[in-house]
Amino acid sequence: MTNIDALSWSDVKSSQFRLAILPWGATEPHNLHLPYSTDNLLSRAVSLDAAAKAEVKGVQAVVLPAIPFGSQNPGQTDFPICIHMRVETQKAILYDVVSSLKRGGINKLLIMNGHGGNNFNGVVRDLAVEFPDFLIVTTDWYKVVDARSFFTEPGDHAGELETSMMLHYYPEYVKPQETYGSGATRQFSISGLNNRSFWLPRNWQRVSEDTGIGNPQHASAENGKLFAEAVSNVVAEFICDFANATPDNLYR
Ligand SMILES: [Zn+2]
Repeated sequence: MTNIDALSWSDVKSSQFRLAILPWGATEPHNLHLPYSTDNLLSRAVSLDAAAKAEVKGVQAVVLPAIPFGSQNPGQTDFPICIHMRVETQKAILYDVVSSLKRGGINKLLIMNGHGGNNFNGVVRDLAVEFPDFLIVTTDWYKVVDARSFFTEPGDHAGELETSMMLHYYPEYVKPQETYGSGATRQFSISGLNNRSFWLPRNWQRVSEDTGIGNPQHASAENGKLFAEAVSNVVAEFICDFANATPDNLYR
């Protein structure tokens, strides 16, 4: 058992958790058909599947509750109940989670990010300097497997990938296909920004009509299931490798 929602102290004291997984999502509109909590639900679901597979291979990793607030783009935060969490707050949360895990004897954390606006690299680097014996890894679950082998157009936000995953894990939260917005997106007028050689956060009010980015029409529960399987297999394998890592044996 690896789901903190179901673990009591009697379970924890008889377990040997080698690492913790922290799903991290966002609270934001996801086109017209997916729930605001999509990123929280999916980052947690993928974490639970991966941890269950790792446990079968003999490695226990505890899945913490998802942090439900993400870093949001300008324009997005103008929508009602879209909650923007500042990087300073995210850093404070991570600092407290890492310090607490460390006191309790766990010295590894895998951040399972489910929201494109979150970027933990800088914060992880700061914490790596401050806690040299504590290993923190961050990953975007939707990037660990090449989505183009599973979907016609994966999309960025509430597109085919996310809609398929929600149809697989939480079909009861997905509105009927006839309600899907197109997810059509306006491009930048400067080519360097479109090819991502140069970056600035997109203004969501200006790039999307329905808050989606990417066409969800070809989404299916079947493809969501196949992708979820592939992602959780890769993550489970990583969990097993990471469980055996130490700051000393991390390099060949
Ligand atoms: Zn999302």
